[in-house]
Amino acid sequence: MFLLRQIFRIGALLMGLGLLLHPSLAGTGNTVTVRIGVLAYKGAEAVQEDWSHVRDWLEAGIPDHRFILLGFDQAGLTRAVQEHSVDFVITNSGHYVALENSDGASRIATIESPWALSPRQSIGSAIVVRKDARLHTLADLAGKHVLAVGPEAFGGYQIAARELLQAGVDPEHDLASLQFTGFPVQKIVHAVRAGRADAGIIRTCLLEQMISSGEIGAGELRVLAPIDTRGFRCQTSSRLYPDWPFAALRHTPMELSKRVAMALLAMPRTADGYSWTIPSDYQVVGELFRELRIGPYAYLRLWTFEGVLRRYWGWMLLILALLVVWAVHTVRVEHLVSQRTRALRDAQEEQRRMAEEARMRQATLDHTARLAILGEMASAIAHELNQPLAAIRNFARGIQRRIAAGRLEPAPLLEGSGEIVAQSERAASIIRNIRAFAQKRTAEQKSVDLIAVLGEAIALFTGAHPQARVIWQPGAAQPARVMADPVKIQQVMLNLLKNALDAQQTAGHAQEPIEVRFRAEAGSCLVTVRDSGCGLEPEQFAHLFEPFFTTKAEGLGLGLSLSKGIIESLGGTLSAAANDDNAGLTVWFSLPREELQGGI
Ligand code: ADP
Repeated sequence: MFLLRQIFRIGALLMGLGLLLHPSLAGTGNTVTVRIGVLAYKGAEAVQEDWSHVRDWLEAGIPDHRFILLGFDQAGLTRAVQEHSVDFVITNSGHYVALENSDGASRIATIESPWALSPRQSIGSAIVVRKDARLHTLADLAGKHVLAVGPEAFGGYQIAARELLQAGVDPEHDLASLQFTGFPVQKIVHAVRAGRADAGIIRTCLLEQMISSGEIGAGELRVLAPIDTRGFRCQTSSRLYPDWPFAALRHTPMELSKRVAMALLAMPRTADGYSWTIPSDYQVVGELFRELRIGPYAYLRLWTFEGVLRRYWGWMLLILALLVVWAVHTVRVEHLVSQRTRALRDAQEEQRRMAEEARMRQATLDHTARLAILGEMASAIAHELNQPLAAIRNFARGIQRRIAAGRLEPAPLLEGSGEIVAQSERAASIIRNIRAFAQKRTAEQKSVDLIAVLGEAIALFTGAHPQARVIWQPGAAQPARVMADPVKIQQVMLNLLKNALDAQQTAGHAQEPIEVRFRAEAGSCLVTVRDSGCGLEPEQFAHLFEPFFTTKAEGLGLGLSLSKGIIESLGGTLSAAANDDNAGLTVWFSLPREELQGGI
């Protein structure tokens, strides 16, 4: 193909040498040279032979002009048009329409062939097969080896390609092979005859011409699936298209085009039966191009789904793979997230359940501890209640005596009954306090005056333990407010006092004072309970706040561990240390002051 093109180019160059020094019409003296580019489908020599009669006729008709014929293959002719090295072209209809679109070629006449009734229907594709080949329809060519002239050959490929596509055979994909041989096209015929291909695509009438010239025998080849076209003398496998045009180019002088057109139309029919007629309509060729998506419609090929798929399948595959990876990753991440969320929710639920259980256990323990304290204080409570009851009894008897003696002055009677009311209220208040202390209840946090709460606890304790000497030193401080449940603070205080008294009794110092001090410090309140009891062995300190650590026969060992829990839940601390003089123990706790807790 390359070699062929070179031969054409050299041929054209030699022929035009000396005449083509200037790209436009070349003139020597009075003679103007006009260059006619011809599509040399049968080879370069055939051009001179086939078209010399036209050249001679034009030279005769247009004096002072010298016409030369330059043969090219299709690509060479296109280049010659673009380089302005030809002034007219004679080419096939398909190539002409392409040149019309790309380079403004305009037809001035169309050939009339001896084998066609009308120049509008004069060229088609003949698909030649061996006579005995088992091929009957165009569809039979699927999977076969096929030869054609070239992808841009009109009769030698494009016309047949349209028919094949319509028969459901895509020549670019459905054939076993599609080979382009280039010019001269006769070699396709020889190749099919020799069995080197199953079929060959050539322009119509070439087979008939070769048979009549004796180049091949009449019985060797046949045209596949011939169409019945009335008035067309050759066999065709396709519908027919307009014959070759004679076309002027954009740079061809108008006057010259006109004179050439008139000369062509006036040309008598040749001995072979060729002549020129008015230019045909080449629109049908445009339709073929559109259907095949070639020539001016080649862009359609680029953006069809199939075309895009074929061009970019590598990228698309990569993108698809990335999408799949991304989708898998997303699904996996979502799965993991939901799994972890579920695990977290379960853990939270478990934590909440355990906290609730712990809270319930704590409440039960607190309650038990309070009941234990109350149990221990039962006799003291009875004593406490006894006082108002004794007073009530005394006042009631006094009133009875007065009534019996007839001393009914209202004032003393009212005073006596008033006392009864006051004493019974005192008893009721004691019972109310005990019930409140003993009740199983949920803690209620509120702002309380710590000094007052401690005072109440000490009073309750000393009421219950008259033998104890508690020295209460609230200091000169203002009321110190803390956020707490007063009952729990009392519980802690009663515990510490009870332990102090027990320790002193163990040491035989029941009568010694138990000192309770209160000190308001920056940000917190400090409460100290100091006794002069038996104290603790150094190794016992480590276990002091452990639950169930007790040295007492009747002890539960819960008091201090619960107290520590209560104080720490309020943001405070509970600690103990031996006294400096080694006689007894000091236990203290601190609580944050409310003003600071609120951030004020
Ligand atoms: P219980 O009083 O039922 O034993 P606690 O938790 O209140 O339970 O006390 C645990 C142990 O700590 C007591 O048995 C005692 O040995 C020791 N303890 C507590 N307070 C004192 C104290 N003030 N002096 C000496 N030992 C104490």
